[in-house]
Amino acid sequence: MSLMQISEPGEAPRTAEHRRAAGIDLGTTNSLVASVIDEQAVTLGDGQGGQLLPSVVRYLASGSPRVGLTDQQFIHDDPLNTISSVKRFMGRGVEDIRKLADQFPYEFVRAERGMPRIRTVAGDFSPVEVSAEILKALKTRAEQALGGELEGVVITVPAYFDDAQRQATKDAAQLAGLKVLRLLNEPTAAAIAYGLDQGAEGIHAIYDLGGGTFDISILRFSKGVFEVLATAGDSALGGDDIDRVIAEWLLDQAGIGADADQGCLQEIMYHARKAKEALTAQDSFAFSIERPDGALWQGRLERVVFEDLIRPVIKRTLAPCKRVLRDANIDVRDICEVVMVGGSTRIPCVRDMVGAFFHCQPHVDIDPDKVVAIGAAIQADILVGNKPGDDMLLLDVIPLSLGIETMGGLVEKLIPRNTTIPVTRAQKFTTFKDGQTAMVIHVVQGERELVSDNRSLARFELQGIPPMVAGAAHIQVTFQVDADGLLSVSARELSTGVETGIVVKPSYGLSEEEIEHMLRDSLTHASDDVSIRRLREYQVEAERAINVIQVALAENGERLLSREERARIDMALAALQAVQDGDDYLAIKQAMTNLDRATAEFAERRMNASIHDALTGHKVNEFSG
Ligand code: ADP
Ligand code: MG
Repeated sequence: MSLMQISEPGEAPRTAEHRRAAGIDLGTTNSLVASVIDEQAVTLGDGQGGQLLPSVVRYLASGSPRVGLTDQQFIHDDPLNTISSVKRFMGRGVEDIRKLADQFPYEFVRAERGMPRIRTVAGDFSPVEVSAEILKALKTRAEQALGGELEGVVITVPAYFDDAQRQATKDAAQLAGLKVLRLLNEPTAAAIAYGLDQGAEGIHAIYDLGGGTFDISILRFSKGVFEVLATAGDSALGGDDIDRVIAEWLLDQAGIGADADQGCLQEIMYHARKAKEALTAQDSFAFSIERPDGALWQGRLERVVFEDLIRPVIKRTLAPCKRVLRDANIDVRDICEVVMVGGSTRIPCVRDMVGAFFHCQPHVDIDPDKVVAIGAAIQADILVGNKPGDDMLLLDVIPLSLGIETMGGLVEKLIPRNTTIPVTRAQKFTTFKDGQTAMVIHVVQGERELVSDNRSLARFELQGIPPMVAGAAHIQVTFQVDADGLLSVSARELSTGVETGIVVKPSYGLSEEEIEHMLRDSLTHASDDVSIRRLREYQVEAERAINVIQVALAENGERLLSREERARIDMALAALQAVQDGDDYLAIKQAMTNLDRATAEFAERRMNASIHDALTGHKVNEFSG
């Protein structure tokens, strides 16, 4: 697969003025914001020396919620209103959450449209709204540090996040009033922070073990360009699991029953985490814990015992490591370097086990807590247009295969996992019954063969197919995944041109009305904000449209367009670029419509070409670049 360098349209026209941009690591346990200041990416602190913002939101009976409590006592005092690890619930449906819910003290309620919410004294809040509080706190921190409003941010997500989880993250950013320049996979951000592309060519593994998620990515660097070969991971494995193992040991040692009240259990978790973090630097840890019956329990955990306890958890990270090597079609000996990311990689025995698995000494030089935010800040700085001449953008891959349901409840994959994005793939299907005039397109995500084993993303119907004998109609289904990993799907009956399509918004998601409603509720300058939001949406849309066209032109503009056609598209593109950053949303809208018209024919030809290529056994990408 070849790679292209994409130059970002947002960069032109450039001014000498420095634009305020930030990178945000929206973590399960801790969140950070970083920015490039004087050509140096730095994390922005809270003014009191703290850099990490604990991803904890405490709702109060009156007043706005408090974010980032460092005083763990609050968890003890008020577990039902103190929400942590909310990232684990992002984009999850009621069923998914039920599986996780027994690990958390909160009360989940099912709101309208099946979207889960967490009940607090201040009302019921969705995970998206809770995350938005964290983002707002980071936004405020960054704007104070940088002395003005942010123009855009890059937010990182685990490579393993599916479409729903990515969309939920974007919704949260929108609620927080942030303009998202790009979602970026966390391991990819770490690679940028290390500037690995500046170094030797080779294949590297990024091992990220945080508080709640594990990611492993294989990246290849050659000729100064990054390629993500494959990613794997586990979206429910991290330092929290280590805490739990230690907590169980503590309960057992201290003779406290698992039926102890929530406050007591949370306190045990707190001690477990303290012990774990201390054992990075020391060989043993002393406990002094008050039991529910008021008696004091004192005990000691030796590092060797600690390591025996946690080894099974660490071992669970090695299965995705094996899988990712298989997916990337490489041998462990092909890996040149291993980069450690995430707070849990501070644990010496994690470093040892990972080093042993990859047969090399892992990199630990950059603070593993900050490395993702720093990479995101570097990327945000480029995307916002502060780095003339540095146009290189990383290309990511989709984490899970995308396909549609075919007869018999089987999945036909249109885009296999680990395909580089942005990507467009089309495939032809036909009718099953004579005279069939409608067809349901059921979009699914996942690796399994049966639809029922995968995640259902969306369902829509193509109507108006002319009655024909079975198998005579040609229905072309097109999947397009944009640079953020978000999918749109369209279906078209080729003889009549009847077409229908959707942008896949996960069924849990907030409707536009809901977002707008919440925006109005949560912000004081309601009417201004609504029009600003509309403008931003158009700006983001314009950016995306330009990006898509540029990729398409680079891919097969040469092959499919005459000089006149190309000139027409270039003109429409330039017209959109000229108004893209202005504040006249109608002008942007008009320019986008014009660009759509100018490129309609080209899109058609690309689709045909891609089918042709598929039929003749070539991938579209092989012709590019
Ligand atoms: P996330 O990306 O999930 O927000 P982080 O990368 O911030 O997570 O890592 C948080 C995890 O790292 C927590 O489980 C925390 O207990 C753990 N951690 C932080 N410091 C240490 C340490 N010194 N030893 C072991 N684990 C640590
Ligand atoms: Mg992290």
